[in-house]
Amino acid sequence: MIHRRHFIAAGAALPLLHAAAGFSPVWAQNAPHLGTPTLPSPGFRRTRVGDAEVIALIDGVARRPLGEEFVRNAPLAEVKALLSSQGLSTDFIDIPFTPFLVVVGGRRVLMDTGLGEFGGATTGKLMAHLQAAGVQPGDIDDVVITHFHGDHINGLRNRAGAFPFSKARVHVPAPEWAFWMDDARLNAAPAGMKGAFENVRRTFAQMPSAMLQQFVPGTDPVAGIQSIPAYGHTPGHTLFQVGQGRNSFTYIGDLTNVPALFARNPDWAVVFDMDAEAARQTRRAVFKQLVEQGGVVGGFHFPFPAFGRMTARGQGYAFEALS
Ligand SMILES: [Zn+2]
Repeated sequence: MIHRRHFIAAGAALPLLHAAAGFSPVWAQNAPHLGTPTLPSPGFRRTRVGDAEVIALIDGVARRPLGEEFVRNAPLAEVKALLSSQGLSTDFIDIPFTPFLVVVGGRRVLMDTGLGEFGGATTGKLMAHLQAAGVQPGDIDDVVITHFHGDHINGLRNRAGAFPFSKARVHVPAPEWAFWMDDARLNAAPAGMKGAFENVRRTFAQMPSAMLQQFVPGTDPVAGIQSIPAYGHTPGHTLFQVGQGRNSFTYIGDLTNVPALFARNPDWAVVFDMDAEAARQTRRAVFKQLVEQGGVVGGFHFPFPAFGRMTARGQGYAFEALS
């Protein structure tokens, strides 16, 4: 098991926000001149890990032009060289969005929700893929949320204001809630960040109190699901783990963006990391433990099916998807 308390210190002193705009669904739109990303079909994949069934459910893919800003602390030429060494395009980055459904102890637990009705044309497919896997939104018992960026929470609520996971309890990390709901932080945020705060408020406004549950990272929000604080990407970014050792599944949310860049180079900072240094330390520490543990890892922005194993590689790590 990952030692939960180990990661708390990394986020202890969060500096002011310095991330550029990029959390609103606007960045999840495709850049049309770069062609359209293809989605896997079917858009779900099942595996079994110990006592749990894990189903990857892709919500979509956004194709983003690759510019200097994407990796904040590496020259673009190095970024392109690493991509091309893996047979990937150097003109754009395809960023997938993949929530997971974990069925354990008779409960259906959805981990993050995708962009819902608020992203581009090649996103918002979670509901269709959930139903293709034989699960209705009203069957979800619990939703656990890693952090409050729009690609992770927007599926909680539709444009009409309804909550499609109507029966679910929605479990959110308490420090994430405290940060985004703080009016002083909203007022102090740069113009490009205000939309992210407003999006959080729109999503959770008037959510029934019986539906919304805050939890302290390090505790178990749902029986059989452990939470692990992994602060840095956001102030309350939290991972979820079920099972033990090789028979564990750990959903790492945005511990890294695409692994082809940020697992291979854990010290590189994606533009979306709100505290790049805390995120870097957390990423290093968690990857080390995940490799020692040898269990199955799922990443929200990992290539489909987005679950697999991490191995040590060079100065960093490589992701090997389960076939
Ligand atoms: Zn994300």
